Amino acid sequence: MSITFLEKKPGQRACSQKDEKGELCVGHLKRWYQAPAEVVSAAGHDAQVFRCERCHALYLPSAKDTSSAGLQYEVRPVNLLGGFMRHGGK
Ligand SMILES: [Zn+2]
Repeated sequence: MSITFLEKKPGQRACSQKDEKGELCVGHLKRWYQAPAEVVSAAGHDAQVFRCERCHALYLPSAKDTSSAGLQYEVRPVNLLGGFMRHGGK
């Protein structure tokens, strides 16, 4: 079974999946901290996996889409946030 990730645009918080009728899902995209190991390994080790609360579509932030190359590593304090989040799990 393959795992498909959609691209989460910078600042995007609502799901952009469309149902059979062509209507936008607009479910809330939530950071998925409890992602199973196969999802984490498919996403990449340090990837931030997001999941739509409504249709459960998986999202990854668009890393390549940063406007200028080289800026990728200073987008946000990943270490700080990760360490903090790991403790509470929420
Ligand atoms: Zn959705």
